[in-house]
Amino acid sequence: MSVRAGSQSPEHIPLEGQDENLSRVLQRLIKGGPEQQAVDAGEIDAIIDYSDSNVLLFPAARQALQSIKAKARAHVPVANHLLAALTHDEYQQLAPSLEPVTLRSGTILHEPGEPFRFVYFPVDCIVSLLPATTGRQNLEVGLVGFDGMVGTSLALGVKVSSLRARVQIEGAALRVPQAHFTRALERSQTLRHELNLYIYAELVTARKKAVCSKFHLIEARLASRLLLTSALMRSDRFFVTQEAVAAALGVRRESVTQAAVGLQRKHLITYSRGRLRILNPQGLDAASCSCYERLDTLSNHV
Ligand SMILES: [Zn+2]
Repeated sequence: MSVRAGSQSPEHIPLEGQDENLSRVLQRLIKGGPEQQAVDAGEIDAIIDYSDSNVLLFPAARQALQSIKAKARAHVPVANHLLAALTHDEYQQLAPSLEPVTLRSGTILHEPGEPFRFVYFPVDCIVSLLPATTGRQNLEVGLVGFDGMVGTSLALGVKVSSLRARVQIEGAALRVPQAHFTRALERSQTLRHELNLYIYAELVTARKKAVCSKFHLIEARLASRLLLTSALMRSDRFFVTQEAVAAALGVRRESVTQAAVGLQRKHLITYSRGRLRILNPQGLDAASCSCYERLDTLSNHV
């Protein structure tokens, strides 16, 4: 029995090791019969092997299917965890609204009190969330990398930001206009579920941070912070200024210098003119207070 193109779901058609079976089935066709005529005319893409009921694809159809699958894989944004969690259909609905952008260090994505124009899904940049302050000193209350999104309060129905979002480490991101994102959120149960988990993780991190800033030593806090930055950058080398770390930890710049010297003396890091390299991740982990861990922690509880 022959199969016309598109009459069988390609997901259920085995692709490997078919050529011998295909030749065998073709040789058994009745000479001059309707099936052989259809094969000779190139009107069919596959044929059924009655010995085991498998559908056998012709080589051209197999190549076309593999090409389609490769293209589909190329469009899956595995670089951002929230987007990577979407189903293929959910991602395809959002894909036309995703705009790749490069975010430069120091760029303000939004200020407190401003409506969200876009949401941002970081790929390899890191964005600091800071409250409105009147003085020069600022305290970071959140950090967003490839595991999250800038603009999460939209998921709670709040369309105005309460925080400043400033790019701390430059890199790539995907942005979506606010109205498009809101529509995607209404359609996608997966996106709502993943964002709920992420917002909960943000809440847990903020609670930990409040305790951390009150009770833990600056050197241990710096070690934790550097490990988090390394995890979000997926690299043991990155550029980070002392001002940014001081703001992140809510301490003076001189205190960061002192703590960084302490970690360098233990041969855990090197740090020069903003260029940081982690020499010994296990040693740095042992020296840290572990308060900034958050990646993958929720997956153990859901
Ligand atoms: Zn701590």
